[in-house]
Amino acid sequence: MIFLACFLLSLYLSLNIVEDKPLSNLIERGEEMRVIKERVEPSELKYLKFLKPRRGLTIKENQYYLKLLKGFKGEKEFDRLIQQELTADCLVLNGLLFEHSLTVFQIDTLLIFQNDVYLIEIKYFEGDFYTDDEQWHVISGKEIKNPLLQIQRSESTFRQMQQSLKLDYTVKASLVFNNPEFHLYNASSDLPVIFPAQLYRFVKRLNDVPTEISQKHEQFADHLVSRHLTDSPHTRVPDYDYDQLKKGVVCPKCLSFLSQKESKWVCNKCGNMEERADAILRTVNEFQFLFPNKKLTTKTICDWCGIVQGYKTVRRILNKHFNRIGNTNNSYFV
Ligand SMILES: [Zn+2]
Repeated sequence: MIFLACFLLSLYLSLNIVEDKPLSNLIERGEEMRVIKERVEPSELKYLKFLKPRRGLTIKENQYYLKLLKGFKGEKEFDRLIQQELTADCLVLNGLLFEHSLTVFQIDTLLIFQNDVYLIEIKYFEGDFYTDDEQWHVISGKEIKNPLLQIQRSESTFRQMQQSLKLDYTVKASLVFNNPEFHLYNASSDLPVIFPAQLYRFVKRLNDVPTEISQKHEQFADHLVSRHLTDSPHTRVPDYDYDQLKKGVVCPKCLSFLSQKESKWVCNKCGNMEERADAILRTVNEFQFLFPNKKLTTKTICDWCGIVQGYKTVRRILNKHFNRIGNTNNSYFV
C-alpha cells in the first residue's frame, strides 16, 4: 500500500514537472530573441528631413538635423548587431518613450530576459573625449552633457515604474558607444559603459545568460508597448507654411528633387530610380505627416508632387491605396 502511494506520488510529481515545461512549446517557440517593437524614425528628424529640400534649414536646424540623423544611424547600427549576434531567448523593444511620476524618459533598446531587464542607451559619438569624475568633455575642452546622468535617471524611473507593477526584474543599464571612431580618455573601468571594441563581447555575454521566456514576460512586453508615448511632449515642430514650400518629389537618398522619366522617377544627382507609384505614395506620406489636417485630394497631391500632366495617374494611385469619400469633383481620400 505504502509502495503504491509512493509510486502515485512520484508519478504525480513527474507529470507536474512535465506540465511546467511543455517540450512542444520550447520547440515551437524556437528559443530565440524576438523583436516586439521596431524602431521608428523620430518625428523631429522627419520634419527636418522633409523640410530641408523644400524650404532649406537654418544653421541651427541643420546642426540639429545632422545630430538626429547621426543618432538614428547609430541606433540602426546597434539594431543590426542585435539582429545578427543576439541568440538568447529574450524579447527586444526598440525606441521606447515613457512617462512615470511626471518624468518623461526614453530607452533606446530594452531587452527582457528571464530574470533581468537590460536598458541600453546608444551614443554614436565620434572623436576623442575625456572625463573627470562627473564631467565629460570633448578633447578640445568643451563640456558636454554627462550621458551617464541620463541613463541613471531612466534606470531609476524605470525601476519605480516596475515596482508600481509589482514586478521585480533586476534592472541593468548600459551606455553603449558604437561608433568605431569614438575614444574616451580617463574612463574608470567600473563605469556601466560598453566601448566599440567591447560590443561583440557584450552581446556574447548576453548570449551566455541562462534564460527562458514565458507568457509572463510577453505580457510585460505588451504592457510596455501599450505605455509607449508615440508623441513626445518635447518634440520641436519647426515653422513652415504650405505656400512657401517647394513642390516636387524628393530623392529619399540625397534629398534632391527627382524628375519623371516614363514610368519612373529618377535622381539626376545620385542616380536613384523609383517606380512611379512608390515615389508618389512616399510623397503622399510626407504630405500627410507635414499637413495632418489638410484634405487629401488628387489636385492637392498633383500640386504637392509638382505634377502638371498626369492627373489621371495620380488619381488611379490614390484610388488604389486609399478610400475615396464622395464622387464629385470635391472627393477626397482617407
Ligand atoms: Zn538622389
